[in-house]
Amino acid sequence: MNYYDAIVIGGGPAGCETARLLAEKGYKVMVAEEHRKIGEPIQCAGLVSLRTLQAATISVGIIINQIKGAFIHSPGGEVLSIRDREAYAFVIDRTEFDRKLSERAQCAGAEILTGVRASVGEFLPYEASVRLKADGGETTVKTRLLIGADGANSRVARRINAPGAEDVIRMYAAEVELECLEKDMVHIFLGREIAPGWFGWVIPVDEKHARVGIGVSGGDKHPLFYFKRMMNAHSGVFKGMNIVRGTGGVVPIGLPSKIYSERTMLVGDAACQTKPISGGGLYLGLLGAGLCAKVAAQALSKGDLSSEFLSQYQRLWEREMGDEIQTALAHRNIFLTMSDKEMDVLIHFFRHPLWQSIISRYGDIDYPSRLAGILSFAGPWAEKFFLVGCRKILRYCSTVRA
Ligand SMILES: Cc1cc2nc3c(=O)[nH]c(=O)nc-3n(C[C@H](O)[C@H](O)[C@H](O)COP(=O)(O)OP(=O)(O)OC[C@H]3O[C@@H](n4cnc5c(N)ncnc54)[C@H](O)[C@@H]3O)c2cc1C
Repeated sequence: MNYYDAIVIGGGPAGCETARLLAEKGYKVMVAEEHRKIGEPIQCAGLVSLRTLQAATISVGIIINQIKGAFIHSPGGEVLSIRDREAYAFVIDRTEFDRKLSERAQCAGAEILTGVRASVGEFLPYEASVRLKADGGETTVKTRLLIGADGANSRVARRINAPGAEDVIRMYAAEVELECLEKDMVHIFLGREIAPGWFGWVIPVDEKHARVGIGVSGGDKHPLFYFKRMMNAHSGVFKGMNIVRGTGGVVPIGLPSKIYSERTMLVGDAACQTKPISGGGLYLGLLGAGLCAKVAAQALSKGDLSSEFLSQYQRLWEREMGDEIQTALAHRNIFLTMSDKEMDVLIHFFRHPLWQSIISRYGDIDYPSRLAGILSFAGPWAEKFFLVGCRKILRYCSTVRA
């Protein structure tokens, strides 16, 4: 029976990066990926920051387009246009991105198995067993450490009873043929009717192609229902659009209180390492992979894979991203209380050149809390903060009195 230092379930970016870092330290690592090809099928809009490309140390051959600004459409038709001289985001070939990360992990010595569905077997005193199912049959392998990088619907997370996400955003997305008049500007669509609890997007790939999508939080209707509603409401932007390939997926958001357990660590979407305002998970997944691999390597070298030792990973993650995620969640909670009318007022307010220049100066897609902090002083947003804060205090006082 094969024996590994670490088995990573899931060959997405977070899993492959964790595997690479451990393999580079000389550990025997295997990645099990259920799809036959790494990076396929794509469930991603592929919009990332320069920081993400730097974290992955990949840029050659994957950047398809550069984004310099955004049109933010309010529900009532107000449009806020934010434009920079420099590119602040990049549209990438996500399949190629995943492939390059897996090739690098392989070059470092990690074994990558594709077309293999893995499930956690038993946890024994000195090892865990993992069942691998492929066309050829089923085998069992053993590992000192198990890493769950199996995405948003992580079975590994469920197996260790990890706390769930604070919210799960359901998405429909598509690659489309669409005339993109300004190929360096994305469109964002807001509104409770169009995208309850989230937003819709158009990300140009070139002058004639784009990635279009929508996310919703809660509700019982399929995201495709809202997608069609968004197209009808903004028919000018979507005129002549032809869907080439539709896809979907979910993005979990939150800051779970436990992303480890005895002999087990979670990374990437499985650990909710995503941005609560945009849903982007590539940058945070790579950061998470770095921290996961660091603690995993120490645990393997000390031979201590106890829950207590692995809890360092949780502490490191919270130190790195905890404040950012909490602040983003707080702003998101305020956004969730806003009516369509209030969104109109807010977008109208931010159209003032002063606010436009502040947004373009402090906007950062990886760390939006700094900008959000500044925007909290803007009239309509500050009012919301005050009202939501007062409501919370009143609720607290009434529960204390009861
Ligand atoms: C519609 C949509 C658009 C998005 N757009 C963006 C964007 O523009 N920018 C951005 O940064 N992020 C975006 N994201 C989020 C991003 O795609 C994820 O955060 C990222 O893919 C997470 O990487 P991961 O490695 O944690 O998980 P994944 O990429 O989901 O990889 C997990 C892998 O585990 C495999 N797996 C699962 N179970 C098993 C099993 N039992 N055995 C073997 N293999 C298994 C899966 O097949 C999968 O390949 C988007 C998400 C969606 C749904």
